[in-house]
Amino acid sequence: MNIIAVETITDVTPPVAYDYLINEGFTTIVDKEVGYDGKVYSDIQQATALGGLTHGVTKLEITAAYAGIANMGEYIPPVFYDRVYDHDGNLVIDNRDPSERSHRMCKKTTAWQLIDAMKDVVTSGTGTRAKMQSGIKCAGKTGTTSNSYDLWFCGMTPYYTASVWFGYDSNITVNTNNHKDMWRDIMDAIAQKEGHSPDKDWDQPDGLEKTTVCKMTGLLPTSGCPTCTDWCDKDHVPKKRCKGHTNSIRICNESHMKATNTCPDTTEYPITYDDQGNMTILGAPFEYDQNIFTTPCPIHPEAEGGLGIEAWADTGGVISNVPEFQEGDDVTFYITANPGYVISDVKVDGNSVGPVSQYTFKAVRGPHTIYAYFTATGEGGNPPPDPNTEAPTEAPTEAPTEAPTEAPPPDGGGGDGG
Ligand SMILES: [Zn+2]
Ligand SMILES: [Zn+2]
Repeated sequence: MNIIAVETITDVTPPVAYDYLINEGFTTIVDKEVGYDGKVYSDIQQATALGGLTHGVTKLEITAAYAGIANMGEYIPPVFYDRVYDHDGNLVIDNRDPSERSHRMCKKTTAWQLIDAMKDVVTSGTGTRAKMQSGIKCAGKTGTTSNSYDLWFCGMTPYYTASVWFGYDSNITVNTNNHKDMWRDIMDAIAQKEGHSPDKDWDQPDGLEKTTVCKMTGLLPTSGCPTCTDWCDKDHVPKKRCKGHTNSIRICNESHMKATNTCPDTTEYPITYDDQGNMTILGAPFEYDQNIFTTPCPIHPEAEGGLGIEAWADTGGVISNVPEFQEGDDVTFYITANPGYVISDVKVDGNSVGPVSQYTFKAVRGPHTIYAYFTATGEGGNPPPDPNTEAPTEAPTEAPTEAPTEAPPPDGGGGDGG
């Protein structure tokens, strides 16, 4: 799951993520610092997403940042007193109105989505121990450093935000849920004392839209896409549609398992995915389980070097070299007769395909042979090559085997379909 955080910081770029942290009130992160070892340290890097920081953060500042989320994206710097009077009783500092020192650290919609996601942590994720007994709505996030030296729980109710850090000054592994229990018990006690209501919840701001997307691409789904539905900022609802998942599997008709390169009789079936990512073979006239996607046919074992293509030309001409290719690629060969010769026949896997100058193996999955044969035309016999004449360079005259037979549509085709 940490991979998702690293992919996200990579996506938004570390400098943007760093600016957000500054805006969220963190003062201990560094953009560039030369350590005692002479190395340059910076928190503008991907490990920042996982808390791999030069100096770390303080409990006060991380709690203030979470409070900013709980406050729907409005950050309020924490203070320890609300009024200061001088000895004459004049009010010299008044902190009672937080709006005088607050600023926006993220959009309301972003804050609400974060709270919504962090509610799941407490109801079904790693923080279920922190779920409040009083039924007060709460959301939060657990955190664990390497070797469980530090345990964190930062959480919020619609009333208060609090964080618990659990560990030792010297790094010692601590395997416990005490930090979550502690958070829950303190917050339950406060809720009881202050008479908090289990009905109070964060108000959903305007600008969110319930959106269904393709789970694999995040784009608008096409039939056959595995989908998920959640709240999305109206400005970020995807506009492009998923092109669909046209994956297929080739099945041995004898064993009804994944075909190898030696299965003599095979059928290719399209595959679809369900919400869990399980695959279904469309139109399969046989029973199967998910092993079929990984287990090769046991009757016809895969042949060694099975992808090899043997290309050979008789006297009187040449055939192009076998190119580098991978399973499933199309592989094309060109046959050229020498001066005084014409192509008489080309045999593909032992079968004549006629005197073609070009042949394409479609979606190569097994061994093939292609042999080219030539006949002398008798015109000038077999003359020695004239050093003053270049070898013939004209293109082969036969049409390619897969020549398009229709003109392209007037709009050029393509488009991403609806
Ligand atoms: Zn899709
Ligand atoms: Zn087979």
